[in-house]
Amino acid sequence: MDRKSALARIEYLKTSLWENSRRYYVDNAPVISDYEYDMMMRELSDLEKEYPEFLTPDSPTQRVGSDLESQAAAEAPHEMRAGAEKASRKEFAQYPHQYPMLSLSNTYSIGEVEEFAQRASKSIDVPFTYCCELKFDGTAICLTYRGGKLFRALTRGDGVIGDDVTENARHISNIPQTLHGVGYPDEFEIRGEVLMPYSSFRALNEEREEIGEQPFANPRNAASGSLKLLDSEEVGRRGLYCTLYHIPGDTVKADTHDHALSMAASWGLPISDKRKICKTISEIEDYISEWDTGRKSLPYATDGIVIKINETAVQQSLGYTAKFPRWAVAYKFKAEEALTRLLSIDYQVGRTGAVTPVANLEPVHLSGTVVKRATLNNADQMALMDIRVGDWVYVEKGGEIIPKITSVELKRREPGTVPPEFPKVCPDCGTPLVKMEGEAKYFCPNSDGCPTQIKGRLVHFMGRKAMNILAGDATVDQLYDLDLVRTPADLYDLHKADLLRLEGWKDRSAERFLSSIRDSKVVTFDHVLFAIGIRYVGETTAKAIAEHFGNIDAIMAASEEELLSVPDIGEVIAKSIYSFFRKPEHQVEIQRLRASGLNFSMTKEEAASDVLSGLTFVVSGNFSISRDDLKKMITSNGGKCSSSVSGKTSFLISGEKSGPEKLKKAAELGVKVISEQEFYAMLPAASETPSESVDQDEEEPTLFPGLF
Ligand code: NAD
Repeated sequence: MDRKSALARIEYLKTSLWENSRRYYVDNAPVISDYEYDMMMRELSDLEKEYPEFLTPDSPTQRVGSDLESQAAAEAPHEMRAGAEKASRKEFAQYPHQYPMLSLSNTYSIGEVEEFAQRASKSIDVPFTYCCELKFDGTAICLTYRGGKLFRALTRGDGVIGDDVTENARHISNIPQTLHGVGYPDEFEIRGEVLMPYSSFRALNEEREEIGEQPFANPRNAASGSLKLLDSEEVGRRGLYCTLYHIPGDTVKADTHDHALSMAASWGLPISDKRKICKTISEIEDYISEWDTGRKSLPYATDGIVIKINETAVQQSLGYTAKFPRWAVAYKFKAEEALTRLLSIDYQVGRTGAVTPVANLEPVHLSGTVVKRATLNNADQMALMDIRVGDWVYVEKGGEIIPKITSVELKRREPGTVPPEFPKVCPDCGTPLVKMEGEAKYFCPNSDGCPTQIKGRLVHFMGRKAMNILAGDATVDQLYDLDLVRTPADLYDLHKADLLRLEGWKDRSAERFLSSIRDSKVVTFDHVLFAIGIRYVGETTAKAIAEHFGNIDAIMAASEEELLSVPDIGEVIAKSIYSFFRKPEHQVEIQRLRASGLNFSMTKEEAASDVLSGLTFVVSGNFSISRDDLKKMITSNGGKCSSSVSGKTSFLISGEKSGPEKLKKAAELGVKVISEQEFYAMLPAASETPSESVDQDEEEPTLFPGLF
């Protein structure tokens, strides 16, 4: 390559790396794989070595990727943003790190790990060992403890300053607020990773898809997006988990890194027990191959192994480059992928009308399952990959709900293939598709006539977290096909005779279904608001709006500005709510639902008591009523619910099989633990107690046609 071409290539790589870095760290919505990113970085680094005159201090090879919004924007402006999640982000206070928070030099090659070890052996003339650890795939966090209490939590930021996410960190259940044991310094920093376990990730993405939001690409992005939410309680709800692996500086006196971590563990800090001291390269290789397989059964994502020189004195003598410690290297696992053929593409319509291209693949084995379908996300992604039916494609599975296609093997493309044409009309109802400004997806605008959208909305309306009406998709299909139900309000006009027309339904099934519909009328206003399916309005948002405005009339009359004044409501959500209620058909639907007796204001009980006002409760274990009902009682009497015990918790209501971690935390923090009965005793005499409330267990349906 001549100098001119090298310069052009360097400029291209820098721009592309900046842009992808922003998509990854700030938007939490990467569009290329980590491997592709790392290969571009490697190419840039090699070119800069060959042409040092083109190396600039702002090169991505010289600094860590920044998660600070303003800075990343200045470095790599671009148009694409990550949907509604950004509406709930806030500006965080920023503080400098006491020691820079750097990245790790990384490699995908065992040979390069060997080179690292050989270099170390040559340059270090005292005996030393390696501490091998899992490389946790989350987002980095730096905790400061002062006087044994959690004082501050910062993100990595740009490595020099980080965002202050202390409040959010207090809602991550395994980050201790107070240390125990002896010997911790009065003030010290400890660093680690905030992770989202696969189970929480799947639940979160299902919820996001249900309300029409773009799901997170992987648990790392979900952890990073969640850590920067405005609502700390919501952070608690997302089931994040922390693991710590490095104490910078010399405040903790220990000869080895491993010893420092053991001391931290004795103070109650979450330290992984999967680390291992290795003396030789072959022991390191054994550890790598053990975890290359072992990691597949871990409940959280890991993307490699970190090999650290264990002796503190040696670490200090080796020091740091501008971007990495010289005493550590990360060996990264290449995400498991498989090569297979793209047979055809389906275009699926969701409840909100969004059309998602789904690839039908020649079945292929990947991470223990057979993969036949994979998401292609949207038309832009398809064009970016230049994917065609008949192509050989790489499929990857990284903890996501469904696998995704990461790239096309262009070398194997056969002649005669043509780029697929994204449908111009809805595959379900034939209405011309539209693409709204700023949206990556095409939509079917026929929300009131498109069968898939209508059925999707009914399923959502009846869902457990919405109106809790006991019906599965098959029942909804039948109700639709028999032209009995088109909108949720039609459900409340159903008669037994109508239901007996459903295939396999008898008196008993029809009566139980009608009874479930009747019971749904006691569902509180916030759930009703969630049930009516306003785009971007999830459970938490519905609750915030219901509590803020008190009734539907006030919400319908609210301007966009008034909606924006509700904590947690950003522009995207405010616009969506405002335009929903401007539609005459939605106004008619609300009128009909109201006439059927649904709760469209905070009910008497909800407003009746504020005896728990100012108190925050955590509910743990099993009770005589469902946890959701218990929480409703708390909020309806003015209290607040939180998912994790913190310094702000007033009471932990502990039931059967209460979480030991929560009880331990409560004991540490001096939070009072009360029983279910003690809780009822706090309520005014007139409040509903379980004997009067719906006994949910008895209402569980037996299996009968059409129902669960
Ligand atoms: P990294 O993730 O490769 O490695 C460094 C990080 O590993 C540390 O900052 C720390 O947070 C984490 N870590 C996990 N376990 C650890 C342990 N036991 N000890 C020490 N650290 C541990 O580096 P990075 O700077 O955070 O991110 C850069 C990487 O992110 C790139 O190499 C690339 O893979 C990925 N990335 C991808 C895209 C994309 O578009 N796909 C964009 C930007 C970055």
